[in-house]
Amino acid sequence: MLTDRLPRVRLGSLPTPLHELPRLSRALGGPRLFVKRDDQTGLATGGNKTRKLEFSVAEALRRGADTLITLGAVQSNHARQTAAAAAACGLRCVLVLSGQAPQVAAGNLLLDHLLGARVVFSGGRTREEVAGEVVAAQTAEGHRPYLIPVGASDEVGAAGFVAALEELKGQLDELRLRIDRVVFASSSFGTQAGLCVAAKELGFEPQLAGIAIDSTRAELQAAVAGIAARLAARIGLDDSVTPEEVVGYDAYVGGGYAVLGPPEREAIELAARHEGILLDPVYTGRAMAGLIDLIRRREIGAGETILFWHTGGTPALFAYGEELLGSPRNR
Ligand SMILES: *Cc1c(COP(=O)(O)O)cnc(C)c1O
Repeated sequence: MLTDRLPRVRLGSLPTPLHELPRLSRALGGPRLFVKRDDQTGLATGGNKTRKLEFSVAEALRRGADTLITLGAVQSNHARQTAAAAAACGLRCVLVLSGQAPQVAAGNLLLDHLLGARVVFSGGRTREEVAGEVVAAQTAEGHRPYLIPVGASDEVGAAGFVAALEELKGQLDELRLRIDRVVFASSSFGTQAGLCVAAKELGFEPQLAGIAIDSTRAELQAAVAGIAARLAARIGLDDSVTPEEVVGYDAYVGGGYAVLGPPEREAIELAARHEGILLDPVYTGRAMAGLIDLIRRREIGAGETILFWHTGGTPALFAYGEELLGSPRNR
């Protein structure tokens, strides 16, 4: 494996399942659809950050850290998986989350607390500034903190998606299944960077189509290529990807990060009601909404075979009850 020489701790239940979505495919009158179930990685309700944290936490341990610090949105799946990874490895955990503490700790934030993380809100300041202070304060208290960036999307964490593409390729080979594209949510870009680096090295030909959650296509391409270059160097590969080679769709950012709109609501309902699969309001709901639109506009042909990479996020559903169902009067 390409990542064999990197330190890694096992946190996830891997490989995750891969299966077909025949009823959703029929409902859309569209291509054959398959799903890669990274909502089933197993770490305190799972998600794509589990794969990255296997490498980030190993690096923290290699450096002798006793405390994981990371940052994110209030409903950050990455923060919740980091809290779970810390618990599983006997490390302390401090999470720096945006804004003010909400009235009720729901969804991922509830789990952060249950998992024993200390939660600090950034208030009116940037998360990065507050995280810097937390690192300094933890050090002054005699702890050895390791700071994991947003989404674990550096060259350390992104290695998780190099291993993930190798896992997928093995499953496809075993099933003798040929796919045309892989479609997934792209936000802090480590997932896409890892997939791109592995695809280039392995000659994996399906298109890797990132649906931008909160960026322009140009931002996505530049950021993915940047992480990919550092990741390729870390693994010892000569070749990385150029921004032009990175595929991103930016027509689906809607009202902005974490704002649930009609397309996300429709995508969540379709996946739930046709396949019994729970998407999330922030990432996979938006990525599936993008896939549905690309199918309806025939940019993705009915004869294609598509793999949707379900990157997790299920707990955030429980913080979006009103937005998903409307006020109780309407139910
Ligand atoms: C973080 C996250 C993503 C995006 O992955 P990046 O590596 O940040 O681009 C997608 N889906 C879910 C559920 C996530 O939590």
